[in-house]
Parts: sequence; C-alpha cells; structure tokens
Amino acid sequence: MTISPTLRPDCGSCFALCCTALGFARSADFAIDKPAAAPCPNLAGDFSCTIHQRLRPRGFRGCTVFDCFGAGQAVSQHTFGGISWAEDPSSRHSMFAVFKTVKQLHEMLWYLDEAGRRTFDPELAGEAALLSGRIATIAQGDASAVLGADVELLHGEVRNLLMEVSGEVRGSYGAEGTATLDGGLRPGADLMGAALANRRLCGVDLRGAYLIGADLRGSDLAAADMLGADLRGAQLHGADLSSALYVTQPQMNAAEGNSDTHLPTRLSRPDHWL
Ligand code: SF4
Repeated sequence: MTISPTLRPDCGSCFALCCTALGFARSADFAIDKPAAAPCPNLAGDFSCTIHQRLRPRGFRGCTVFDCFGAGQAVSQHTFGGISWAEDPSSRHSMFAVFKTVKQLHEMLWYLDEAGRRTFDPELAGEAALLSGRIATIAQGDASAVLGADVELLHGEVRNLLMEVSGEVRGSYGAEGTATLDGGLRPGADLMGAALANRRLCGVDLRGAYLIGADLRGSDLAAADMLGADLRGAQLHGADLSSALYVTQPQMNAAEGNSDTHLPTRLSRPDHWL
C-alpha cells in the first residue's frame, strides 16, 4: 500500500514555506510569536532549521507535528519554477498564498487516495478518482489557477465522499461488540483524557472528536473513522490503528506511542516515540 510521493514532504526541495508563510502564536507548541509571511528567526539562509535536532526541548513541538502533504516542494519547484522568495521577493505574497491553498488541496488528495482504496464500491472508487483528478489538476496549475479554486466547494465534495466510504467501511464491522462510553463515542465528542485503554473500538465514528490526552493504549481501532480527530498527547502505546480510517501523519506526530503501536503502512513512526 503506497501513496504518491508527491503527497509526502520533501523539505530539501522546499523554500521553507511552512517556516515563512504560516504564523504561530506563543503557546505550549511554539516558544515565540511569529506572524504569517515572515521568516522564523530560527531559519537559516539555506532554508534549513538551525534547531532541527532540538525542536521539542526548545519549545517548538508544533514544528515536529506539522506536515504539508508535499505542498512545499510542489509550490517551490513546480508552481514557482525553483525561484525562491528570497531570490525574487516580489513573489512572496503569491507564493505564500499558493502554498496555503495547495496544502489544503494535497490534504484532500491524501484522504481521497485512502477512500478510493478502502471502498468496496467500484462506483465510489471511480468518484474518488475523478475528484482526485480535478483537485490534482488545480494543484498543479499556475498560481492564478490555484488561487481561483473554490476550496470550500471542493472540501464539501470531498467530505461527502469520505463520509460515504466511512459509513460503508465501518458498517462492514457492525456495531455489535463495539465498545461504547455511555454513548459518548461519536463524531465531535469531547473525549479529552478519556479512559479508553484496551477497548474494542472497531468501526466507531470519532470524526472530529477531541481525544486530547485520551488513553487509547492497547485498543483496537480497526475501521474507526479518525478524520480530523484531535489526538494531541493521546496515548497510543500498543494501540492498533493499522486499518483505522483517515489517520494522518500530523495526528500521529501530535500523539504519544511506541514501537508496539500499529500504524497504517503509509505513515511513519514519529521520532519522539522511539
Ligand atoms: S523553529 Fe525551525 S522548523 Fe520551526 S518554524 Fe522555525 S525554522 Fe521552521
């Protein structure tokens, strides 16, 4: 099970767009305030991070969680032809805006790739492929094509398709035997710090749930819909997410786990777990 390499970050081919285009506020995740469209003070002239090996101890945990889904190198090398914002400052505004949009488009492509592979319905797989093709065409267009995209409309189409596939895949596991928490295991649920260790959570719909600091150690999340679930600090040691739906690298980067955590094959085990 592989995914197009264009949806994986290649920081060495990027003009550090996440470290410039995006802003962040001083918090538990970032040691400083940084406005959008301004280079981070830790950024070196060659677009590398001067504290890359010490991000967490230096208070920049947020940087270790972020993932651009391959938008950074696509915008740097394809849309802007390898001419950086430092070489051509007049491109800054456009490049940063394009990056933010392409990042969203690539994230949609990531989810659609999974939906197309997980559905049992050839028609849904075909719809996922068609929608992916439309989105990829926009993402690979020029700056005006990207900035002219109706991202909200695309989001809606993608969301509907993901939900349809989710219902189908989760339904194949059936509700019987699935753990419940006083009926609290539902989309958008507040499950912060919840004790959910060693549960059979197969097929539950945790889309958009707040699982911050939740204890999911040793639980089976087969076919659980994790779309947009907030897993910051969630305990995933020994949990099985290998066939959970719509799990992303940023979600894993924000969580805690270990070598016994089973991940979907297209995700990497975060360095801080080891
Ligand atoms: S700390 Fe490093 S990785 Fe984080 S925004 Fe600054 S330069 Fe980028």
